[in-house]
Amino acid sequence: MERPPPGKVEDLATLAKLDEKILLDELKLRYYNNEIYTYVGDILIAVNPFRDIGIYDDLTSYKYNLAKKDEHPPHIFAIADSAYQCMIGHGGRTPENQCILISGESGAGKTESTKLIIKQLVELCHGNTQLEQQILQVNPLLEAFGNAQTLMNDNSSRFGKYIQLMFHNGQVLGAKISEYLLEKSRLVHQGVGEESFHIFYYMMAGLPKSKQEQFFLAAPERYRYLVNGTSGISKDKQTSKVKYEELLNALDLVGFTDEEQYDMFTIVTSVLHLGNVSFEEKDDDSVEVHDMNPVKVIAKLLCVDSEDIAGTMTSIITHTRGEQVTRHYTKSQAEEARDAVAKVLYGRLFGWIVNKVNQLLAPTYNVRSEECREIGILDIFGFEHFEKNSFEQACINLANEQLQFFFNQHVFKQEQEEYIREGIDWNEIKFVDNKPLLDLFLGRPMGLLSILDEESRFPRATDITLVTKYNQKFEGNSYYKAAKGSNDNKFTINHYAGQVTYTAEGWLEKNRDTLPPGVMEMLQASQNTLVKSIFRAQVTRTGTLSMQARKSTRHTRKGHRPSLDAARKRKLTTGGQFKNSLHVLMERMTAAKPMFIRCLKPNHVKAPGKFDEKYIQQQLLYTGMLETTKIRREGFAVRPSFEDFVNKYKVILCKPTLSGTRDNCTKILQATKIKGWQVGKTKVFLKYYHIDQITEVLETM
Ligand code: ATP
Ligand code: MG
Repeated sequence: MERPPPGKVEDLATLAKLDEKILLDELKLRYYNNEIYTYVGDILIAVNPFRDIGIYDDLTSYKYNLAKKDEHPPHIFAIADSAYQCMIGHGGRTPENQCILISGESGAGKTESTKLIIKQLVELCHGNTQLEQQILQVNPLLEAFGNAQTLMNDNSSRFGKYIQLMFHNGQVLGAKISEYLLEKSRLVHQGVGEESFHIFYYMMAGLPKSKQEQFFLAAPERYRYLVNGTSGISKDKQTSKVKYEELLNALDLVGFTDEEQYDMFTIVTSVLHLGNVSFEEKDDDSVEVHDMNPVKVIAKLLCVDSEDIAGTMTSIITHTRGEQVTRHYTKSQAEEARDAVAKVLYGRLFGWIVNKVNQLLAPTYNVRSEECREIGILDIFGFEHFEKNSFEQACINLANEQLQFFFNQHVFKQEQEEYIREGIDWNEIKFVDNKPLLDLFLGRPMGLLSILDEESRFPRATDITLVTKYNQKFEGNSYYKAAKGSNDNKFTINHYAGQVTYTAEGWLEKNRDTLPPGVMEMLQASQNTLVKSIFRAQVTRTGTLSMQARKSTRHTRKGHRPSLDAARKRKLTTGGQFKNSLHVLMERMTAAKPMFIRCLKPNHVKAPGKFDEKYIQQQLLYTGMLETTKIRREGFAVRPSFEDFVNKYKVILCKPTLSGTRDNCTKILQATKIKGWQVGKTKVFLKYYHIDQITEVLETM
């Protein structure tokens, strides 16, 4: 067989010669030729084109339907098709649940890939049902509330998600979304050149004047939460307006009622007004709300008492030996309380939206669960490394470590263990095992998260005491480095994707995730239907990270705010919740057959036609792409049992009664004259291209 010229190799696992440079050159040539997709065996590499390259039309979609892998150029539709075929058990395979893992840096193209996969899966069902139309609208809907413009990506997902599509007889039955760790801190502060969640800008550009008045809205520049520390509002108003219309359309299609939509916007706008509440210090050391106007607006919108709002944000009432004591907040405590209210409102609203979508898309008719199959798609925030890295980055990077571990387990570890077990001739391929990093984060009682939980229980603990503990416990751990000099609240972790220095400022607070006393009770007493329902006792959401799980349902009478409640102490920490949901996610994925898509980002400037070699090389290096290509090239992707193999190919020897023994497998393989196979103790080991070669032999018989 003749080798294709450089840049025309569609599957890098077929390269005769292989090193980092060759890998890079192949991807570069292909990229400049608009061939953004390349296979490494069964793994897909996607390099972000940053422009429309016109390869996702209906005709292309149709072309990849049920096609053989090498019939057409590599494409994301082929991955969707393959997952679908495996899920329904096409071609005599055993039907299996599938999961598709999409990884890559921020802006590499994970979310776009997710949408393309879902589009193709819906296409493959040929249904054009209402449910399918709803499913297609879910992503734009969630993006409006959970995505934001960042330095890395104009449409950056500020939450992670796992979308499960449920099928029966090849038709979509329903869908379920799990969301992970919405970045609530973005509401109250954004870095220079970054924005808050899209919804704020869409709404302000799109709401008709009469509605703006109902929500007491002024121009975006008037809201501190939208302009704090940033370069102002950069979004184009006309584009935002179109997006607003699209959002309304999506909300309608998915099934949100007019009343629900109105209530959602009420909460979103009250968050904006909250940002404009400011405080002033009085001579007697107390603080008071500077201007009650925004508070009154919030009170109207949320249907709560304005004095209650002002009270909960400026003081705390405790009961000591039957006596009621009022302790005044400092100005910064009051500001923190205000921001906490904004974050809990928006966070719960987001959780409610996901819940609602899940209700609307849940399978409606009864099918026995064992007859149901599913395809899960994971689109999680990419590895993050900023100048200042906080608790959010630590959680995001932990999730990425976990995914890399999962990838390694599948691609390297389990595969090579089977080779050894089966006694075949094999030269071990080394890979960088990141298990020690998972242990560093998740170990008990000696992991970063456990120690953080422990410290979070001490009221006197500070970020400095936390880092001091870390420095003591992780002394000598080669993945952990204490900061030098006066940076005593900093430490560095050697991640698989590079070194990240974290600042522990605010970690304890973020991990405790407690609300100022009285806030919960105040919101629970609201007369607004949606506010009432999202703060009702405990909202159950599976696999969710950003939600508080408070058990207290105490009612409050006006003017009588309760003291710190005991439930606060028992509540799961943010880190604890995140750990649990990662665990649930891994269990779900382990129970399915995984497929991997590796998104690569070709440059830092979101520009088309620019392939920054050094940057791509870095990404290839830390994802272990060279080793992956090696194992896909040298490994045995097809491993039928003796029985299966003989049954399928005994015609080659023209012996219909041949039994499934090791000897007979060898005889058949020798007769085909193909090269490079091995026979183990219980299975035949074939390279992925052998099947096509054997099929050719059969066809020429
Ligand atoms: P984050 O981790 O920040 O959420 P991401 O990996 O999800 O990043 P995307 O939002 O999917 O990144 O992609 C960033 C941008 O790149 C898109 O808004 C789009 O402009 C462009 N892009 C990505 N994939 C494609 C594609 N296949 N074709 C054209 N443009 C694309
Ligand atoms: Mg994304």
